[in-house]
Amino acid sequence: MTRSEELFERARRSIPGGVDSPVRAFGAVGGTPPFVASGSGAYVTDVDGIRYIDWVQSWGANLFGHACPEIVEAATSAARRGTSFGAPTEGEVQLAERIVDALPSVEMVRLVSSGTEAAMSAIRLARGFTGREAILKFEGCYHGHSDALLAKGAGSGTITVPYNDLAAARAAFAEHGGEVAAVIVEPVAANMGVVPPEPGLLEGLRELCTEDGSLLIFDEVITGFRLAYRGAQGHFSIDPDLTVLGKVMGGGFPSAAFGGRREVMERLAPAGPVYQAGTLAGNPVTVAAGIAALDMARDRNPYPELAKTAEELATGLEGSFERAGIEATVNRIETMLSVFFTGGPVRTFDHARAADHERFARFFHHMLDRGVYLPPSGFEMWTLSTTHGPQEIERTIEAASSFQG
Ligand code: PLP
Repeated sequence: MTRSEELFERARRSIPGGVDSPVRAFGAVGGTPPFVASGSGAYVTDVDGIRYIDWVQSWGANLFGHACPEIVEAATSAARRGTSFGAPTEGEVQLAERIVDALPSVEMVRLVSSGTEAAMSAIRLARGFTGREAILKFEGCYHGHSDALLAKGAGSGTITVPYNDLAAARAAFAEHGGEVAAVIVEPVAANMGVVPPEPGLLEGLRELCTEDGSLLIFDEVITGFRLAYRGAQGHFSIDPDLTVLGKVMGGGFPSAAFGGRREVMERLAPAGPVYQAGTLAGNPVTVAAGIAALDMARDRNPYPELAKTAEELATGLEGSFERAGIEATVNRIETMLSVFFTGGPVRTFDHARAADHERFARFFHHMLDRGVYLPPSGFEMWTLSTTHGPQEIERTIEAASSFQG
């Protein structure tokens, strides 16, 4: 028995399913998840001493790889000055200013501790601002596990329509005009695998919301500071009313935020009547890590290089699958990519679901056995970091090239 197997068995006695977030249990691909002992740059090492190229990178949180020295230094020196005060600090102002500077539509921002909390709070604020109850979301988009955002269908206050189907969104507005508090969307879907928006989708949603008086919320937990420094809203030049952030902005620490138009944000307590709070919100250690990460993202502009790396990886994988006669579609936009085992194209959640996910599970284990750790589900994005270089690309493509299906 490996140490990971031992730990997984032990974990299941005291933690439901043995993990603190379901996808970590490898339910979609089977087998035992390696328990991670440490990480450095593009690599993680498990408790059995096996080293993997890590294409998960904490599900997109690490833009600069594991244990990035600048981020570790910022966090440890902040921790030495105190780990939590529950009182205002200068760091919070500095991080808020950086977010406001970076994201075109964000005039004010509030810091919270997880993407779930940020999305849930943005919905609460939208309801308070508009005095309406209904939320329109897209099937296959993920916005954390709050009730309103996991629910679908009648009676829940949540209307769900297919992603990339503007006509369906239009029909929902025709039916529920004047009732919709907010439309929430991943501007590039990344929780059904990566599925970019069809031309006109985001523009169309902007128009529908403006006409109806509902708020457009971009969930940029993944795209924020990853698709581009200015997020999807900068990339597509569309201003949502509210933006939800997480992952990269925490530098690998539990940090998230929601922000947007001043008029809307000023409805939040204590400036306004919509209550929202958090004991550890704006935590000084996570804030210091976030500032270090965002400063590097702004000053080093790693995005063109990351997009090039993503392109090389995508092209290499496509070549490997083609040579093996395996039908596959690699969806990529800028720095974000994922692999679907289908002839494609993959433009909708239905397309993503119709891909061969059993083949993905076999591919996943083929890669894991060769020291390449992929996201353990065909519905997840592969995460690049600035520490993934030519060697990691080459090794990953080489491992993929011996996959026979
Ligand atoms: N929104 C999106 C787009 C996400 O991908 C996620 C998590 O993966 C969340 C929200 C929820 O964030 P968290 O896991 O920090 O609660």
